[in-house]
Amino acid sequence: SVRFAKVTKSYGGASPAVCDLTASIDEGELVVLVGPSGSGKSTALRMLAGLETPTAGELFIGDARVNDLPPAKRDVAMVFQDYALFPHMTARNNMAFGLKMQGTPRAEIASRVERAASLLGIAELLDRKPQQLSGGEQQRVALGRAIVRRPAVFLLDEPLANLDAQLRAGMRAELAELQRELAATMLYVTHDQVEAMTLGHRLVLLDRGVVQQIGPPMEVYRRPANRFVASFLGSPP
Ligand code: ATP
Ligand code: MG
Repeated sequence: SVRFAKVTKSYGGASPAVCDLTASIDEGELVVLVGPSGSGKSTALRMLAGLETPTAGELFIGDARVNDLPPAKRDVAMVFQDYALFPHMTARNNMAFGLKMQGTPRAEIASRVERAASLLGIAELLDRKPQQLSGGEQQRVALGRAIVRRPAVFLLDEPLANLDAQLRAGMRAELAELQRELAATMLYVTHDQVEAMTLGHRLVLLDRGVVQQIGPPMEVYRRPANRFVASFLGSPP
């Protein structure tokens, strides 16, 4: 589980990027953090991953307060919008890298990589480098790299943004299935209303760093808390 308790992040501008954010993600829940560009979604995710430090407030992963934990000590795996694969490494080595750094035994690494690859349908592609893979295949490798680490929490920052519309729809369904299979705790960031409505168990809607509403997608859609939510989700009048 994850908890943001009155978390604020200011980069020094006129208004904070994230302001007084209180939200939680239950064990095995997929929460979608959604809002327009610049609303603070990536900032919220990056604070959990330890890539940014909150200006105020507290962050919890499980029962542990993680504000002062270095990124490597946090039980999270992040998937970036641009995948951030190592270009000179094969898919296999990209997926294995984090585990090698942790000192996981070789045989254990090999079996986890094989299992994740077959789950993702990329078992035949493991010896290829990123440039020899399509966008969708690279996306799977990036997901695989997170899965093999078996983190308590998956952090996904617009993971499908670089894919064409058709592939995106397919990957969206696969991702939902994968989340169920792994009973994974996920925080999924997007600015796409369709992704938010179809993927999330609950939505957290952000506008200019401030939470506008939290709830199950259909509930938020039917009973928007304000005009921003209604127009963002296209709720009926
Ligand atoms: P997008 O959908 O475009 O990815 P976002 O919701 O992820 O947007 P953030 O990247 O979290 O938004 O940015 C929130 C605000 O903080 C923006 O106004 C942005 O300009 C500002 N910001 C983000 N990172 C930094 C930084 N490193 N230094 C200064 N300001 C930043
Ligand atoms: Mg972002």
